[in-house]
Amino acid sequence: MKAERFFGLRNPRIEMNDWQGEICTLPPPAKVRLPLIHPDGTELEPLVAPGDRVVRGQPVATAPDHAPLHAPIAGEVLESGPLYTPAGEQTRGLELSMAEEDLWARPHTLAEPDLATPDDVRALLVELGAWTWATPPAPGDEAPLPAVDAVAVLAIDQEPEIAVQRRFLMELRAELSRGLSALARVAGNARLVLVVPESLQDEARGAFPDVELFQVGSDYLDNDWRLALARIAGTGNLTRAAARQAGLLAITAEEAACLGLSLEEGQPGTEKLVTVSARSLPQPVTVRTRMGTPVNHLLAQLDIAVEEGDRVVFGGRLRGEAQFDLDAPVTRETDGLTVIPAADAYCPAEAPCINCGRCVHICPVRIQVNLVSRYAEFALVEEAFQQGAHACIECGLCGYVCPAHRPLLQYMRFAVRRYHEALAAAPTTDEPAGPEAPEPDSEPAGESTPAVTA
Ligand code: SF4
Ligand code: SF4
Repeated sequence: MKAERFFGLRNPRIEMNDWQGEICTLPPPAKVRLPLIHPDGTELEPLVAPGDRVVRGQPVATAPDHAPLHAPIAGEVLESGPLYTPAGEQTRGLELSMAEEDLWARPHTLAEPDLATPDDVRALLVELGAWTWATPPAPGDEAPLPAVDAVAVLAIDQEPEIAVQRRFLMELRAELSRGLSALARVAGNARLVLVVPESLQDEARGAFPDVELFQVGSDYLDNDWRLALARIAGTGNLTRAAARQAGLLAITAEEAACLGLSLEEGQPGTEKLVTVSARSLPQPVTVRTRMGTPVNHLLAQLDIAVEEGDRVVFGGRLRGEAQFDLDAPVTRETDGLTVIPAADAYCPAEAPCINCGRCVHICPVRIQVNLVSRYAEFALVEEAFQQGAHACIECGLCGYVCPAHRPLLQYMRFAVRRYHEALAAAPTTDEPAGPEAPEPDSEPAGESTPAVTA
């Protein structure tokens, strides 16, 4: 990760890397673990019980109005205790052991593909796991979601060490092309916008001449999904869920490619690309592995040893989440796995803030991080939320510059997650009013202003 500080007077500028390298497909693990939770936090109910035999691509868990979860391997359902999400939240899970033969489920295809309407195609894709098209209204919000006006396909990665989404503009272009065709069939009249790094704009323009491109710069923050979605929607920073509420459906390039595969082959996606970084690797390696693969399997396949004190992180160094369990599984949202040597590991401390102001100066969404982190530290989550934690894009820059090594990103995440949990648990009629959406003019500050060009 390259960062320039300019004698400590200016915020560090962190450049995204532009490396390539072979994508290797790993052999499937002996066992996969599947947390029974949807990316929007909805719990899934298992459709199978211990002792059942399943085939690859068979639905194994579901929830009303959601796409089902499918078995990524053929095998047997095992007794399973609770699992932990990458964020460390305990949840129910399923464990499957691998059978000798990795048999697929019967494909689901359109009966009459030429006569299928966009609704028919969408229904099939949801049945095959396309969760982004089945997002129901937020809890407590009875209003149906607005129609999709635009679909943003994110072919950008959020951390310098990770190269998953942009690979679909390079060696995996054919997969993305198939995905964009599938999207065009389900998106109706919605705009299709492909979000690309400026370093790959020529490749993207050549490969997808009919698709609208939205180009972002090479700075770390330029590649933040929430800020990119904000630029497209012309509003304050947007989570994917908030973007959907505004009629903008955000989908990663990998998810788009998966739609194309599902439509063509009638099977759900059961694999995930993950970029792995570790001191023993000359450069990060992107691998293709089964969903639910335990971290231990990934590490063993790449001959990566974890020493006492090393940190194993889902994601990258700036915004990744450290794992305490090396059986933690790869999920739909795992783009990176980073092993940080003990000597380089960031050691957060419950140290007092010295009010130096560096976190405020660097925050791209102008949160008073010194103040808000103190509310979060003392579990005053509503105050933290109202004072701006809701606008945090989880870039991790505040913690990166804090001389007191305060776990500022973790405080922000704690406040936001606990606030949403409290909101979900509150009686619907007495719910506290949520915070205002970030102001449209809340531009990132100083050096960190994302130089995004349409
Ligand atoms: S992680 Fe820190 S710097 Fe980044 S948006 Fe959140 S509060 Fe601001
Ligand atoms: S950077 Fe750290 S020490 Fe400085 S104001 Fe922010 S929280 Fe306080």
